[in-house]
Amino acid sequence: MPDHDTTTPAGINGVKTGSIETGANAIETGTNVTKTDTGFNETDTGFIKTVAGFNETDTGFAETVVGWQLQHGRSHLPWQGTRDPYRIWLSEIMLQQTQVATVIGYYQRFLDRFPTVQALAAASQQDVMPYWAGLGYYARARNLHLCAQALCKHWGGAFPATSTQIATLPGIGRSTAAAIAAFSYGERCPIMDGNVKRVFTRYFGIYGVTTERATEKALWEKAEIMLESAPPDLDMAAYTQGLMDLGAQCCTRSRPDCANCPLAADCHARINACQGELPTPRKKKTIPERECTMLVMRQQNHILLEQQPSPGIWGGLWSFPRFDDVQALQIACSHLGVRHDSAQKMAALVHVFSHFKLHIEPWYVQEDTPSLRSPQPGQAWVAIDELAQTALPAPVRKIADDLFGAYETDGKLFTAVPVDNG
Ligand code: SF4
Repeated sequence: MPDHDTTTPAGINGVKTGSIETGANAIETGTNVTKTDTGFNETDTGFIKTVAGFNETDTGFAETVVGWQLQHGRSHLPWQGTRDPYRIWLSEIMLQQTQVATVIGYYQRFLDRFPTVQALAAASQQDVMPYWAGLGYYARARNLHLCAQALCKHWGGAFPATSTQIATLPGIGRSTAAAIAAFSYGERCPIMDGNVKRVFTRYFGIYGVTTERATEKALWEKAEIMLESAPPDLDMAAYTQGLMDLGAQCCTRSRPDCANCPLAADCHARINACQGELPTPRKKKTIPERECTMLVMRQQNHILLEQQPSPGIWGGLWSFPRFDDVQALQIACSHLGVRHDSAQKMAALVHVFSHFKLHIEPWYVQEDTPSLRSPQPGQAWVAIDELAQTALPAPVRKIADDLFGAYETDGKLFTAVPVDNG
């Protein structure tokens, strides 16, 4: 998949060419724009400052996006070329907060193991988590599983026929539901994911933090207007994909490639050279910091792991036993029959979640006597050469990698096999 075609689009139906790369003159050749430096007719409507009268009736918008997508957008991703809502849904969920390049491998492995809604619904959550380990945001995997079960229970194992109905399912919001319906059924419904928000705020000059209700409302309204003014035979899959691709290929967060963007001629941000101000940045808030210790307990060729409760930060995954402080870790050592002063402090690490920072202090203990007490319920001794196939969260994987090096793996993921369940 070419990541980015740098060819300037030419002659695409609906693209206003000839005004993109001509420097200062370009500003004055856009059809809806007279001058930029004398100021637009701006209205301040509460939180959101929108640029009124600008592109309001741009009837060529959707056709421009479709024309560009068909010529320059992505067309060979593993989840394209299908109308199967199950596959489309899976890709949409995996792509939330995650790069395409990362998702590709996970997507294929997941589908190999769970090829249908029914197969996913019939699995246990414990079966599912290893196929998500490393992707982060694990609530997505739990909701995916719940959603498959809801589909089997209430919808006969098939996806409902409209985006409104799809949006009632667990873990599926309005934009994801719309993307599924647009790609699967060609339903005329707008999407508004992170990439599209960036394109819309810049193109239309929509100011205000995009997570705030008023800004979000303005964005959705604009997306609806663009669809209403689009021709009745609009290719919804190409339009939806085109908006996503524009955000990924041209209208990137930093250094957008306006020279190759089909929307450049009428884009508020380009004309005003304010791409860096849109979307309006969120006020930086300091995220809370937490601390924990981890007991990396080795007995011969096995490591003690503990399955994390669900819901919870790593719900369903396996971690080294985690404690609030060193005292609690020492007590756990005593319960296992290990002298806590034999524990060695390892290099600390920090893992950043979306809502807090976790400072981790791992302690390593090796105890080869066979007299160790059985682990607690939920804990298991896992063979070191099975760690590669065990669903470990990223920082636990890092500690294990640092300690035990690369394990043999055939690249597949399987559930951990506990050797002793206590
Ligand atoms: S012209 Fe630039 S800022 Fe405007 S939509 Fe295109 S890439 Fe984004």
